[in-house]
Amino acid sequence: VIMMGQPEHSVVTTCAYCGVGCGFKADMKGEEVVRMVPWKDGKANRGHSCVKGRFAWGYATHKDRVLKPMIRKKITDPWQEVSWDEAINYAAGEIKRIQEQYGRDAVGGITSSRCTNEETYLVQKLVRAAFGTNNVDTCARVCHSPTGYGLKTTLGESAGTQTFDSVMHSDVIIVMGANPSAAHPVFASRMKQRLREGAKLIVIDPRQIELVSSAHIKADYHLPVRPGTNTALLTSMAHVIATENLIDEQFVAERCEEKAFREWREFVSLPENSPEAMESVTGVPAADLRGAARLYATQGNGAIYYGLGVTEHSQGSTTVMAIANLAMATGNVGREGVGVNPLRGQNNVQGSCDMGSFPHELPGYRHISDVATRTEFEQAWGVTLQPEPGLRIPNMFDAALDGSFKALYCQGEDIVQSDPNTQHVIAAMSAMECVIVQDIFLNETAKYAHVFLPGSSFLEKDGTFTNAERRISRVRKVMEPKAGMGDWEATCALSNALGYPMNYKHPSEIMDEIARLTPTFKGVSFKKIDELGSIQWPCNDEAPEGTPTMHVNEFVRGKGKFVITKYVPSDERSTRKFPLLLTTGRILSQYNVGAQTRRTENVVWHNEDVLEIHPQDAEDRGVSTGDWVAIQSRAGETVLRADVTDRVQPGVIYTTFHFPESGANVVTTDSSDWATNCPEYKVTAVQVKRVTQP
Ligand code: SF4
Repeated sequence: VIMMGQPEHSVVTTCAYCGVGCGFKADMKGEEVVRMVPWKDGKANRGHSCVKGRFAWGYATHKDRVLKPMIRKKITDPWQEVSWDEAINYAAGEIKRIQEQYGRDAVGGITSSRCTNEETYLVQKLVRAAFGTNNVDTCARVCHSPTGYGLKTTLGESAGTQTFDSVMHSDVIIVMGANPSAAHPVFASRMKQRLREGAKLIVIDPRQIELVSSAHIKADYHLPVRPGTNTALLTSMAHVIATENLIDEQFVAERCEEKAFREWREFVSLPENSPEAMESVTGVPAADLRGAARLYATQGNGAIYYGLGVTEHSQGSTTVMAIANLAMATGNVGREGVGVNPLRGQNNVQGSCDMGSFPHELPGYRHISDVATRTEFEQAWGVTLQPEPGLRIPNMFDAALDGSFKALYCQGEDIVQSDPNTQHVIAAMSAMECVIVQDIFLNETAKYAHVFLPGSSFLEKDGTFTNAERRISRVRKVMEPKAGMGDWEATCALSNALGYPMNYKHPSEIMDEIARLTPTFKGVSFKKIDELGSIQWPCNDEAPEGTPTMHVNEFVRGKGKFVITKYVPSDERSTRKFPLLLTTGRILSQYNVGAQTRRTENVVWHNEDVLEIHPQDAEDRGVSTGDWVAIQSRAGETVLRADVTDRVQPGVIYTTFHFPESGANVVTTDSSDWATNCPEYKVTAVQVKRVTQP
């Protein structure tokens, strides 16, 4: 149901769902949104939108919104509504008590990729300057942290290389471990437009996503890679390119480190990395893989777009580096139509990483151990910063269970539902003495909280989001914070109560501070974004209006660095006890853990998660579509309904995780990426059995 009526005024803002970052005009009647109209001047969407941004904003005024701060001494006590002052003072008192009793590093914070850059910056500043620890992390830990590591190592910057418009200059497009039609629909439309014009398409995915075969699009190659073997597949693609003399020798000689390239070439050329040798590992026919590698390397501008099906693996960072290797080897970096393009998930996950939310990096991806960087921030913030990286989210959970981590400030992130191995997360949360949750709803995580600070929706915020193409866009307030205080103001209040003053009059002042302290944001201000519509960072003296394409004449790190990407099998392999591999994904109408979309009319399209299972595996288990099935892994068991389909290959099952009842993360394990601890959501060895209705 869409509320209709005559708008009295409009406010241009940015969608709070996915990393496409569509601009919208909120048509208003007083403080009531009448409708959201895709903004025709939005550079990310050019007047287009999907069913989430266009229709699923009703959650912002949903009756489930909690608008009063609440506290309780124990998680078994009932919540008690209190004033903002009381809640903030209680939270600050608990942080101080815990630090006195257990030490400075017994506390930490988690920033939100749903919140603005300015809010995220403040949370990491609160943790580092007011708490005095580097125990700050972001939900990017569980999605694109391997992108940060992999692209920084190879190319020198932790972000995608292109604009979305760049795809209109691509001749060959690889989509790997991403389902843009469901998760980045507006960008998918632009990609399809280019495909209809004749660009070639290679899909690398265990599942038959919509792009593989739809009414107007048919992939030239679908490589149905076995979950957990991405690195093997890309290394064998590199083998073809290296051994069939398809390398762009001039690009590599001019732009890349010579020794690293030579070692990489020797490694990928080994017979054991050939498509034929790897076929039994990846499950991909060698002839298809050779054909796809030749297509990518020889048919003009080649662009790679990838998603969480690349990063959420024990070799996530290695696979990101394997993608960068392929792009460098074929000269597909540094101009329109090419590049390495992570399709970032949440509206501001790029921004939350940019803003210094990682325990080892200050804003702008500068390492905390670097003395000059630390000194700059110490002088600006008037504190002494710790030189050692702090705890990552999974380390916080482990430390909570061993008794050394006692308090957490978690802004806009439902870690109990979204992080893997739910039982482990719950045990860790239950072991903490003070959990402060700041959110718009009493989410699953709030069940383990002692302080609840009511958050504000995107309609109540002033600030900026940064999308997957590094585009910083304005978020503009269309109504006052329903709880009486915005998220950034609550963070400032907590900091002030802890004795570290934070006195900003407006989020624009926070962005001004970010710009002063972050070289890639030096030229960014609200005023300039308002003038230009949006800005792609880096934006500084060299690029005063921003940077659409990165690494044009040289890589940010100077010379591009090839990295050896040896395939290491995942611990999550099929066994007699757990013979199937579970992988997870998203659908168009719902969003992540569903906290927002489940509270909108979008449930009309999808109101439960189901398990996709191949007909052969279903027959072996006596399962038909609609039957209830139990999924068991070494972590746990959950029950949901089956959908028998050949979208998945034999031996692989698939589900979404938008509804807490289906509990996909009850079965995912704590297996994680070797470099960043990003959980291996995309591969879990499981057994499936038919059960009676739960
Ligand atoms: Fe929002 Fe993404 Fe849909 Fe655009 S494509 S309307 S940003 S959810």
